[in-house]
This record gives sequence, C-alpha cells and structure tokens, in this order.
Amino acid sequence: MEFRDLKTQYLKLKPDIDQAILSACAGASFIGGIQVKELEEQLAEYIGVKYCISCANGTDALCLALMAWGIGCGDAVFVPDFTYFATGEAVASVGAVPLFVDVDAESFNIDTEKLEKAILREIERGKYRIRAVIAVDLFGLPAEYKRLKEICRKYDLYLLEDAAQGFGGSMDGIKSCGFGDISITSFFPAKPLGCYGDGGAVFTNHDDWAELLRSYAVHGMGKSKYDNIRIGRNSRLDTIQAAILKIKLSAFKTYELKAVNEAAEKYKIELKDTVLRLPAVKKGYYSSWAQYTIVLPESIHRESLMEQLKAAGIPSMIYYQTPMHAQKAFEGTDSAEADVEVSESLCKRVLSLPMHPYLSKEDIEYIAGVMKRIDGIC
Ligand SMILES: *Cc1c(COP(=O)(O)O)cnc(C)c1O
Repeated sequence: MEFRDLKTQYLKLKPDIDQAILSACAGASFIGGIQVKELEEQLAEYIGVKYCISCANGTDALCLALMAWGIGCGDAVFVPDFTYFATGEAVASVGAVPLFVDVDAESFNIDTEKLEKAILREIERGKYRIRAVIAVDLFGLPAEYKRLKEICRKYDLYLLEDAAQGFGGSMDGIKSCGFGDISITSFFPAKPLGCYGDGGAVFTNHDDWAELLRSYAVHGMGKSKYDNIRIGRNSRLDTIQAAILKIKLSAFKTYELKAVNEAAEKYKIELKDTVLRLPAVKKGYYSSWAQYTIVLPESIHRESLMEQLKAAGIPSMIYYQTPMHAQKAFEGTDSAEADVEVSESLCKRVLSLPMHPYLSKEDIEYIAGVMKRIDGIC
C-alpha cells in the first residue's frame, strides 16, 4: 500500500499525460509555452479570482507575495507554529521575522484568539513593524477566514493564505486560494494537485500586486525580461509541468477531490468507537484532504503503533514532529520564544494515515481493522 499513490494516478491518466508531455516537447517552448498561460487561466477561473501567476514552487510563491507587499527587514509576520517549515522560512528569507502563533486543537489551523493576543503584545512591544498574517490551510482544511479577515482589517495587516495543502478545499462556497489578499499553492507531487516536479502559483484579485508578482517572478522585469526595474528572482513554472497540470486539474475537478472526501468519510465510519481523535470538518467547510491526520491519546505509544502498521504493510507519517519555534533555524530569534502548548502537544501525538484519491474502501477497511486490533485502540 502507498501513502500517496502517484503511480496508480499516472497509470490511470497515462495516455493523456504522455500526449501532453510529447506535445510540449514538440512545441519546444520549454519555458513560457502556451500551456502555462492556459493553465493560469483555468486555475484562476476554478478558484474564482482575477489573477493566477504560476511560479517555481510554493515556497517561492510565499516569498513573491511578501516581496510584492515590500515586506523585509524590521517587519514581522504572524505564522502558525504547527505547519510545514516553508511557511516560516519564506518570511525569514525576505529578511522579516516570523512570529509563531499557536493553533487550534480541533482544526490544527491558526488560533484566532491567540493571534489577536500576539498582535496586541507586539503592538505594545513596538519592536517590529507588524505587516501580515500567514494562515495555512493545514492538511487541506481552510483556516478560519471569517475571523481572520476581521482581525487583519482591524489591525491593518495583509492576509496571506498558504494553501499549499489547501487546493480544492472551500468554506461557504468560497474556494481555498481565494481567501487571502494574496493566496498561494504548491504543485509539489504529493500535494492535492501535484505536478511531476516542483511548481507553485500565486492568486490575487489586486491589479497592482498581480503586476508586481509577475515582475518579481521574472528577474524584476519591466516592459520585458531584459528591462529590469527591480531585483527579483527566477521563479517560473515550466511548460511540461503546466501541460501535466492541465490534465491533472481536469481529473481533480471531475473525480479526485470527491474521491478523497469519500475516503475521509469511510475512515470516519471505520474508526469510530476508538480512542483516536479523528479530523473534524466544521459545518460549511470542505477539505481537500492533503493529509488524513489523527491525534493519538497519551496512552498510545506512537512509534510502536507505526511499527505495527508497518509490519502489516501500512505506511504512516508524522506531520509534523517539530513545532516551528523549536526548529534549530529559529534558535535564538524572537520567534523561538512562543506560547504554543497546543502545537507542542500535537507534534507529540499526531499521525497521518494513507490518503489519496485511489485509496479503495477495502484498503481503508484493512487499515482500520489492523488499527483496531492494536492494544488500547478500541
Ligand atoms: C509544501 C508546502 C509549502 C512549500 O511548497 P513547495 O512547493 O514544496 O515549496 C509551503 N507551505 C506548506 C503548508 C506546505 O505544505
């Protein structure tokens, strides 16, 4: 059994994907081919935003957004403490300070009450210019955007949505990648919509930011690539990846997103009446299930559970083992001292189970059966 089965997906889509790759090769516009523009238009339409600017990966997408807002030295950005490293790394890499905020125990997303407290603390301290909040749609579930938008408006902060895992999720009919002043996603192969290498995209409705994002992604270009009006980066999605993504987007829309939601529903049925805390999706929310992450009670030893699953041929992963503030890279910075007990506790107790659109009902029954036979689970 695969944790995320990209081989089965490829075999299913093989004729179309092979054709798309061959045709991109035949066109020989390996950078900036027509497929890139077509994909950007399809993505913008799917999300319901005015602009989609593709780029080299999700981390760059975060950096480009921060650059478009002129965030850098002396600035601080609030970031959830329980997320993938790139969310905080992007802030530090443009020269600003990421200030880590605890997450909600149920949704795993940034805790809006603690966020507001952290904002007030920073205003009081006056050490940095506070500029933005990055909300992560962790494991595919949109963050609490209604409240986040109110808070950002109240304190005049930009809202950046990190939907690297959130593509396909939604809340009250609005799709992930459409919640932030700027939103981003990643096309890393294992993400909900993945390509066959690295890739990413930035989304916004704002005309000027869209123009800046495009410029920063291509060497700070002005009228052309050879007219350079600011220091940018080289961050582009290549034509072959765009061609692959067009095929995969169509499969994602037609059945893959539905299939992961059915798999989550099946897990819920099979694992009820156990001591495991299953992921909760509140009313109005829809997840893209980038991960199916459960929380173990303290009575269950995580490593030995993983060993037993492995012995039965079931892969499992820990997302994430280390809270952001405790990462060595942030040692000795202001980010390192944070009040983040939920994040710390989750890092000790979470476990992610196989999840992907090609996971069968029988697979889930098997996984649940094995788990339920383990001491202390039922
Ligand atoms: C994967 C991921 C990123 C970075 O995306 P890359 O394409 O790998 O650079 C950023 N944030 C989160 C939450 C992620 O899961």
